[in-house]
Amino acid sequence: MILATILGVFALGVRWAFSYSLKQQIISKLTALGQGIASSAELENNQLKTDNDFKVEKLLNQNQSLQWFDSQGKLLSSQGKTLINLPLFKENSGKFQEENSKIQVVTLPIIDSDKNRLIGYLRVSQSLEELHEIVEKLDWGLGIGIIVALVLSGGGGIILTNQAMRPIEESFKRLKQFTADASHEFRSPLMAIASNVEVSLKYPVGMRETDRESFEVIASATNQMTQLTEGLLLLARTEKNNIDQQEIVNLQTIIEELVEFYQPQFTRKNINLKTELDQSLSIQGNAVQLSRLFSNLIENALHYTPVEGLIEIQGKQKRDFIEIQIKDTGIGIATENLDKIFERFWRADNSRSYWDGGSGLGLAIAQTIASQHRGKIKVDSQVGIGSHFVVILPAYQATSLRKF
Ligand code: ADP
Repeated sequence: MILATILGVFALGVRWAFSYSLKQQIISKLTALGQGIASSAELENNQLKTDNDFKVEKLLNQNQSLQWFDSQGKLLSSQGKTLINLPLFKENSGKFQEENSKIQVVTLPIIDSDKNRLIGYLRVSQSLEELHEIVEKLDWGLGIGIIVALVLSGGGGIILTNQAMRPIEESFKRLKQFTADASHEFRSPLMAIASNVEVSLKYPVGMRETDRESFEVIASATNQMTQLTEGLLLLARTEKNNIDQQEIVNLQTIIEELVEFYQPQFTRKNINLKTELDQSLSIQGNAVQLSRLFSNLIENALHYTPVEGLIEIQGKQKRDFIEIQIKDTGIGIATENLDKIFERFWRADNSRSYWDGGSGLGLAIAQTIASQHRGKIKVDSQVGIGSHFVVILPAYQATSLRKF
């Protein structure tokens, strides 16, 4: 677009300068011609005449003409084809439209050199058709030149960008692979710590009360680390629009199961939960991942909503997509942070003090899963009033099996 604009402006400049200089050339040619002819004219018995041996016709080319006027502006005689049918504008030169063609006109006074008085006017004109033909050819040349330049620079740009992007893509791939490998390797030691701590807490024979508290802290930290490595593993392994194990999933069932699972926590916080889900909200995708998407959003609503708040979950099929809304009366998100909440590890300052169990990966995971299913998540929020998350996913259509 930028290149097209630059070339367009350049072409307009060249076109203007070229046609201006051609026109100036015509005007000076006509002025020189007119001056030459006018200098040979004289008044004989009140009639304007040129020297007998001066052959005016020979000086004119086929698209030029002459018109003689007396000193009052009355047309006396004309020579040539491209005549303009206009009364005389004394000492006037310019461009006039005559039927279909434009004509350049130069009008000169004729001065009797002996008596030094005005004896008439001479109007020299030339059709601008030839000039227009030349400018039209220039337009074609510039137009084709611009298209060729755009195609070549576009092609060159794509090749160069691909070359420049290759090492970046490779290092991104390596980083992703490293994250996946590291997270995978963390799993076994974490599992070993978790199971040992669990056993120690289950059979606390000989354990001091202070040790028990330490073991509980270790259990909670291990749990957080396990969730973090699993989140990282999921993010590193998911590719856009590439889902393993696709099936037809009913979101109504998934959300109802999640609501049931989180019910004790809602009750503990005395949160009023309202759900309104259409009967069948079928989409094509991976049930485990979709459940993860909605559990992340429901958990957030649960964590960031104070006691006795209200959470509403609504699911509707709208034409060929499904819209799930999760609305809470929680602490809200500042407008300037709305585009940061989907970044990995980003957490708002007020939410850190509100709930310290989060990792900042939940929404990044939710968004990755949504985009894998060709969907998106929209959010709207006001600090102190609440947040409103909307997940939009393409509905399953029995007739067209989608290939991701
Ligand atoms: P976390 O594990 O911290 O919840 P998320 O990626 O799920 O990570 O969310 C990122 C941040 O977005 C949160 O730390 C919080 O600041 C903000 N956030 C997400 N959901 C809500 C919500 N329902 N109400 C208020 N803030 C929210």
